[in-house]
Amino acid sequence: MLHLAIVGSGPAGYYTAEAAQKLWGEHVRIDIIDRLPVPYGLIRSGVAPDHQSIKGVARRYEAVALTDNVRFIGRVSVGSDVSVAELQGIYDAVVLATGAPADRALGLPGQELANVFGSAAFVGWYNGHPQFAGLAPDLTRGRAVVIGNGNVALDVARILAKQPAEFVGADIVGGALEALGASGLDGVTILGRRGPYQIAMTPKELGELAHLSRAAPRVDPEDLPPVADDATLDPGLRKSIQILRSFAAPPAPPACPFDLTFDFFAAPRALIGHGRVEAVEVERTRIVDGRAMGTGDIYRIPASIVIAAIGYQTTPIAGVPFDTAAGRFANDEGRIAPGLYCVGWARRGPSGTIGTNRPDGFAIVDKIAADLPAGGSGKSGRAGFEALAKARGLDFGTFRDWQKIDEAEVARARQGAPREKFVSIDAMVEAAGKK
Ligand SMILES: Cc1cc2nc3c(=O)[nH]c(=O)nc-3n(C[C@H](O)[C@H](O)[C@H](O)COP(=O)(O)OP(=O)(O)OC[C@H]3O[C@@H](n4cnc5c(N)ncnc54)[C@H](O)[C@@H]3O)c2cc1C
Repeated sequence: MLHLAIVGSGPAGYYTAEAAQKLWGEHVRIDIIDRLPVPYGLIRSGVAPDHQSIKGVARRYEAVALTDNVRFIGRVSVGSDVSVAELQGIYDAVVLATGAPADRALGLPGQELANVFGSAAFVGWYNGHPQFAGLAPDLTRGRAVVIGNGNVALDVARILAKQPAEFVGADIVGGALEALGASGLDGVTILGRRGPYQIAMTPKELGELAHLSRAAPRVDPEDLPPVADDATLDPGLRKSIQILRSFAAPPAPPACPFDLTFDFFAAPRALIGHGRVEAVEVERTRIVDGRAMGTGDIYRIPASIVIAAIGYQTTPIAGVPFDTAAGRFANDEGRIAPGLYCVGWARRGPSGTIGTNRPDGFAIVDKIAADLPAGGSGKSGRAGFEALAKARGLDFGTFRDWQKIDEAEVARARQGAPREKFVSIDAMVEAAGKK
C-alpha cells in the first residue's frame, strides 16, 4: 500500500489526489490535510462571490473526496501542529499544495497607513476567510485605488462598484455585503505601471465592467496604441484590448454616480496620509523594452482606501527549502527532496487558472511513481497520523464535519444567496457539532 499526504485542499491538492487514484487505484491511501475545517482553498476564499459557476468546480473535488481511499483532515496546520519531517516519517510521499496565501509586499513608503490592504486580505474579507474576517475596511467616503492590472484587481474593483442588488446569487459574506451597501465611495481607480498591452486581464472579467448598474468604466483614449497594432496580439489579449477600446469611446455618457477609471502608465511611488491613507503619489511611465520607466512626471490621486493586487507568495514552512526571490518552495519541477514534493501555486507561484493545476497534479504523481518503490515502503500512513494526532491532542476535522458545516451554511443563507459562510473557525467547529 502506498501512503500519500497532500498538504492543502485547494485545486492542486484535489487534482493530485485524483491523479493518484487514477494511477494506483485501490493501492493508495491519500490524506488531504488542511489548516482550515473547510476544503477547496481559493475556490471558497479567492474566486469572486459573484462567480458561482466557477466555484462549481468544487463538485469535482467532492467526488474525489467521497471515495474510500481519500480522507480530509481539517484544522491541522503543517509546520506548527505537525512538522513536514513528521509527515515524511509516516507517509511514503508528502506533497505540499499550500498555495500562495500571502500578499506580496508593496514596498512603498506609507504602506503601513490605515485602510491599506493587500488583495489576499481584502478578498479574504469579503469571501469569509477566518484569517481576514476582522479586517473592517472603511468604505464610508472618498475613492478607492486598486493597484495592479490582473483579474484580481478587476474582481476587487467590480465588488467595490456593485450595489447590494447586484449580489443576488452571490455568496459574499453578510458583513461585507452590509459594508458595501453602506459604502460612501464615489469611485475606483485601477492603477497599472504599464500599458494596455501589458495587462493580465481576461475578456470575461473586463467585459463584466460594462454591465454594472451605477458605474461605467473609463479608459483614456490616449493610453491606447494605434488600432492597427492590435493585429500583433494573441487572440485573448486582442479581445481584452477591444473591450478597453470600448471603454475609451463610451456612447452618450449616462449619469454614473460611481467613477471607474483605468489609469495606465502610472507607477505608485508612495502612499500619503496622516495615520490613514489619503492619496497615492504616482509617477507617469513609458514602456522601454517592455519595462515601465519613470518619466519624472509626478501627481497624486486622492485615495481613502488602497488595495494592492500585485501578486501572492507561498508561506514558508520550517525545514522546507524556500526560494525567497520567487516566493515559493525551492523545487525542481515539483521535487523538493526525496519523498517531498510541491504542486500548484506552491510549486509555480500565483499564475494560471484553476484548470492549470490539473496537469500539474498529474505531472507530480508521475514523478512520485518514478521515484518510489511500487507498493510503497511499509510506512504507517493513516494509522501513524492518528497516533501522532492523539499523542499531540489534535482534534482534527473530517469531510463529514465539512458536510455538516456546508449544510448549516446553506440553511442559514439570506434570500437569493447559495450560503451564508461561517467566518470563524469556532463557528465552523460548532456547526460541525464538535463543540
Ligand atoms: C482572488 C482570486 C480570484 C481567483 N479567481 C479565479 C477564477 O475566477 N478562475 C480561475 O480559473 N482561477 C482563479 N483564481 C486562481 C485559482 O484560485 C488558483 O489557480 C488555485 O486556487 C490555486 O490552487 P492551489 O491548490 O495551488 O492553492 P489554494 O487554492 O490556495 O489552496 C491551498 C490550500 O492549502 C491550505 N494551506 C495553506 N497552508 C497550509 C498549511 N501550512 N497547512 C495545511 N494547509 C495549508 C489552505 O488553507 C488552502 O486550502 C483566483 C485566485 C485569486 C487569488
